[in-house]
Amino acid sequence: MSSKKPIIGISSDVLEGKNTIYSYRVYGVKDMYVDSINASGGVSFVLPVTNDDDIIRAYVNHVDGVVLTGGKDINPLRWDEEPREEIGESNNLRDSFDLKLVEYAIEYKKPILGICRGLQVINIFLGGTLYQDVSYSKGQYIKHAQKGDTHVGTHHIMIEENSILHSVLGPEYIVNSLHHLSIKDLGKNLKVTAMSNDGIVEAIESTNDNYILALQFHPEAMSASDEGIKRLLDQFVSDCV
Ligand code: MN
Repeated sequence: MSSKKPIIGISSDVLEGKNTIYSYRVYGVKDMYVDSINASGGVSFVLPVTNDDDIIRAYVNHVDGVVLTGGKDINPLRWDEEPREEIGESNNLRDSFDLKLVEYAIEYKKPILGICRGLQVINIFLGGTLYQDVSYSKGQYIKHAQKGDTHVGTHHIMIEENSILHSVLGPEYIVNSLHHLSIKDLGKNLKVTAMSNDGIVEAIESTNDNYILALQFHPEAMSASDEGIKRLLDQFVSDCV
């Protein structure tokens, strides 16, 4: 029996690099994404940002699952809104890249794990919208951009039954929170599977046979020290086999 480890494609970010002589761009990911997926039994493959459709299709074709990582805000023009005061920096190249990764992962039936910005990208691709800052959501009172150690959970989430999230974590959990955008209108073929106590969407999954597990929190920062979150990443990786 072979026990082949699944290849997990991890979306990279466009970062600014600089040495003493010149400046350049880096297509990179934080160590925690790579290390946590590897620790859960996957083989991390970082996917460099590109605007070439054929290359993005080849990436998705060659991996067993896709992780959409966190990062900058998404340009609100992507969901037909003008920028509001609290919107932060975005990168159009990365927005296009991530949206195409979602498109092809759905087309090729590859499981998708969306993390933070990744959840937001999935929602936008499927026709949903975002709050440009959680403060624009009525009733928001919880701090969703925590200070201090990112591996520490700071607020509760209430988890819906009949979801991947519920099968691993049960009805409630405490998660970290490092976001300032959040879902407003839900995209098609999606269901909310967890919310915070102030009504912010904290997780979504697919209602059809596409495999989508998307989290507004950061499992990659918690899994080394939190047994439940480790099991959640284990579940995603094993679902990619
Ligand atoms: Mn939160």
